[in-house]
Amino acid sequence: MGATIIDGRAAADSILSECAAQIAAAKGAPPCLAVIIAGEDAASQVYVRNKVRACERVKLRSQTYVMPADIGEAALLEKIAALNADSSVHGILVQLPLPAHIDSKKALLAVSPKKDVDGFHPENLGKLAAGLPSLWPCTPHGCMRLLSRAEIAPAGKRAAVIGRSNIVGKPMALMLINAGATVTVCNSKTPNLAEITGQADILVAAAGRARMVGAEMIKPGAAVIDVGINRTENGIVGDVDFEAACAVAGHITPVPGGVGPMTIAMLVANTLQAASA
Ligand code: NAD
Repeated sequence: MGATIIDGRAAADSILSECAAQIAAAKGAPPCLAVIIAGEDAASQVYVRNKVRACERVKLRSQTYVMPADIGEAALLEKIAALNADSSVHGILVQLPLPAHIDSKKALLAVSPKKDVDGFHPENLGKLAAGLPSLWPCTPHGCMRLLSRAEIAPAGKRAAVIGRSNIVGKPMALMLINAGATVTVCNSKTPNLAEITGQADILVAAAGRARMVGAEMIKPGAAVIDVGINRTENGIVGDVDFEAACAVAGHITPVPGGVGPMTIAMLVANTLQAASA
């Protein structure tokens, strides 16, 4: 066990405490986050509960709209439009996945970019790509904060990101590029994955494949950020073989207790950012 563990719970705690202090110091009603959940996906229900708890902790107002699994696309879009128009609501989050008959892209596009606290709207992603201020997607934003907490500056470093999704891999790569890293983005068809990851000073694993990153894929001394959440018969594990990786990496995030709590903390921080814009 050589690697230094980057404690995501402690990092998230300190961000939430800062948010709570900011809310307590502000005059008037606290900002408000609206969460829409449709259907009965068990994991989504847990995520939403945790997000609402984080709001309660910092005394942010939150409203949860539980929609039936068979809600029509038009009705969902109407709800989003109403929340866009409601000036007492500062952030809107549409919990994914949505039921299969609803076009998630349409729903995410419907959220006003100014209230898009998940940072999934193309306007916010485009601004991120252009290096302009915007609401950043919470999970990769949390990963950047974990790197900075560990005093790992991306500038001049090689980074590899496993995964190219719009919500994690791509924005993660953009944030690392903007911070001056030389970034390779990998996907399930990338040849010689281990050769690429083995050169990375910063390795972000966001593939959703339990323990796919073994010690042999990690450069000695690298910072390994494990985004993966995989439910196995032995409980929740990340994309990194944690025990093996600890012997090689310089820094590593655990699962659970690494990136997950940061995603929620950044959601709260984004809601304050949206409210102050
Ligand atoms: P996704 O399925 O949309 O994307 C996965 C990406 O990984 C794809 O680009 C795919 O090409 C790539 N990939 C899959 N297998 C691969 C392989 N063997 N080699 C190389 N690349 C491979 O998933 P996502 O939404 O980006 O989420 C990724 C993981 O992160 C999941 O486990 C998800 O649960 C987790 N996640 C965690 C948080 C958090 O807060 N910790 C937030 C979001 C997602």
